[in-house]
Amino acid sequence: MTVWICPTCGGNMIFGTTDVTLQRYRSVLVVQRVPALVCRECGETSLDAKTESAVCDLAMNEIETGAMLEFCTFTAQSETESGYTPGLYGSVSRTFV
Ligand SMILES: [Zn+2]
Repeated sequence: MTVWICPTCGGNMIFGTTDVTLQRYRSVLVVQRVPALVCRECGETSLDAKTESAVCDLAMNEIETGAMLEFCTFTAQSETESGYTPGLYGSVSRTFV
């Protein structure tokens, strides 16, 4: 089993979820339940590159709708036997506030 070490404090990181807040111009988007490594010691989070780019894609799409403040839930789809399928990785359920 792989052990991830926190770059900030050197503690162990475990799989969990985190909320990612993105801001662009006057829009703020909060993407909840993003899978990430979370440090058990200091709370530092780390997204892998694939997840991060999926989150950014979602954010850009949502922000272009013109919402000022929006909460999304990041839902990672299970990977198929053939592996990662670009464009099918995430989906969003919206809650307007
Ligand atoms: Zn840490």
